[in-house]
Amino acid sequence: MSRLDVDRVCSVTNANFDRILSVVVKYLGESRVGGCVCEKCVKSLIADALNVLPTHYYADQTREQAVGSPWVLVENAVAETVEKHQARVCKRLAGIEG
Ligand SMILES: [Zn+2]
Repeated sequence: MSRLDVDRVCSVTNANFDRILSVVVKYLGESRVGGCVCEKCVKSLIADALNVLPTHYYADQTREQAVGSPWVLVENAVAETVEKHQARVCKRLAGIEG
């Protein structure tokens, strides 16, 4: 049995990450994201939007078919998450954490 190369095993990719990221960046550029846009809040927004979509990871990064969810679902996931994000209180701005 060969020794497990953890770095290689941990290179699985969320098939929706690039799509969600591009839509969030578009929303930020159009100032469509209300509420706090600090790094931590934007990361939470991205994570929450990813969690709206069906889980889709792949291990082989050369796989052509691993493109993620349809764009309409990605757009809807971001829109839904942005709406919730606007009501979210930034812990950093509220002084709860540094
Ligand atoms: Zn924030």
